[in-house]
Amino acid sequence: MDFSYLREIEGKRSHDPYFNNNNKMMAKRCVFLNGPVIVGAGPSGLAVAACLNQKGVPSLVLERSNCIASLWQLKTYDRLCLHLPKQFCELPLMSFPDDFPTYPTKQQFIQYLETYASTFGIRPVFNQTVVCANYDRRLGLWRVRTETTTTTTTTTITVATEYATRWLVVATGENAEAVVPGIEGMEEFGGSIMHTSLYKSGEVFRGKKVLVVGCGNSGMEVCLDLCTHNAKPSLVVRDTVHILPREMLGKSTFGLCMCLLKWLPIRLVDRFLLLTSRLLLGDTARLGLDRPEIGPLELKNLSGKTPVLDVGTLAKIKSGDIEVCPGIKRLSKHHTVEFTNGQTKEFDAIILATGYKSNVPSWLKEKEMFSEKDGLPKRPFPNGWKGECGLYAVGFTKRGLLGASMDAKKIAEDIYQYFQCKMEI
Ligand SMILES: Cc1cc2nc3c(=O)[nH]c(=O)nc-3n(C[C@H](O)[C@H](O)[C@H](O)COP(=O)(O)OP(=O)(O)OC[C@H]3O[C@@H](n4cnc5c(N)ncnc54)[C@H](O)[C@@H]3O)c2cc1C
Repeated sequence: MDFSYLREIEGKRSHDPYFNNNNKMMAKRCVFLNGPVIVGAGPSGLAVAACLNQKGVPSLVLERSNCIASLWQLKTYDRLCLHLPKQFCELPLMSFPDDFPTYPTKQQFIQYLETYASTFGIRPVFNQTVVCANYDRRLGLWRVRTETTTTTTTTTITVATEYATRWLVVATGENAEAVVPGIEGMEEFGGSIMHTSLYKSGEVFRGKKVLVVGCGNSGMEVCLDLCTHNAKPSLVVRDTVHILPREMLGKSTFGLCMCLLKWLPIRLVDRFLLLTSRLLLGDTARLGLDRPEIGPLELKNLSGKTPVLDVGTLAKIKSGDIEVCPGIKRLSKHHTVEFTNGQTKEFDAIILATGYKSNVPSWLKEKEMFSEKDGLPKRPFPNGWKGECGLYAVGFTKRGLLGASMDAKKIAEDIYQYFQCKMEI
């Protein structure tokens, strides 16, 4: 990407570092941008940058980690494949290679994103954590502050940069921070406790008794991975859950739903899904996995809760290789876990498949567009992508990469309209 449009307005003068009493060195600079700032170099941020690039609008992508798609590269397990078929996961303007399988592996998906970024000349600025963004009404600009901290043996150097821009695109994702629940007795528990964002493979748990907390797609798949590495997993299931086969009648369940929804009301499609799942998977309630009263697609629409697409875990539950447990009451010394039904069991390790949350409220000072509670846009789909004064959100629709692509195209088109007007003035 061409950075010649970056104009440092304060750079040289304030670039001189100074030391404070804690041996911390600070440097500040301010950069005025001619195009939008995109916060986050995940698939959503890349999609917006590519769509803008195609329209000749320069943009700058700021990323807190040291690579693109950091969620995929740094925080996911080795055996992960896309949960949905590739045609529903491609970003705008570029399809997956034909020789990729229907469900590309994590490595293939990363390779696709690397190619995507280089094809559209996207070069994010890495190690830039956005710590604050607010709208300066006097200037009519967003002031976006980032911090980069480097620690040497003697000094901590923090470089603070302020970017000033007319447009701010929030692409930090629904999965920005791991959710770690407070469980009574956590500090006493003698075994290891880790979030799935740190789980890579079951190899290190070979022969160990592992309790996986949370029965979403990640929790279910981690259990399966533990089985293949000869560990002994148990799964905590506290809530009701819809489990659907990944494929039905020779088609992907997701694809089939999309197709049926074009012709039939959602409740009828839900009935079809539940009937077919019953035929293919049996009664999941008998395994301790009760279904919610509302159907899977209606529930997704109402609450954003995604049904689990089974990739083999259910068979392992049926065969007794994975045990289903009720909620945890407390943990205690050594390796003991007490459950809500009063039973106690010993485990070597606990893996928290308890999900992620948005971090937008921690840095975006504008409070109209995003909810303080969950960090997602307040306006429901499909209207959550646009806020006031050049503020946009991409990838917060709870509709995966397909939703992100839809947002990205709309945002690029909207900014392009403003950009054109501005150029004409
Ligand atoms: C295990 C898993 C499997 C999934 N599988 C699928 C699938 O098959 N199909 C599908 O459609 N969806 C899937 N999803 C859902 C979703 O599509 C992905 O999470 C996708 O990565 C979302 O892209 P994103 O760019 O919106 O967010 P992210 O990929 O989370 O990218 C956000 C980026 O913003 C950066 N960032 C965050 N805060 C800051 C900050 N303050 N300053 C600077 N940078 C910041 C992060 O470091 C990150 O790189 C899956 C999700 C998970 C967790």
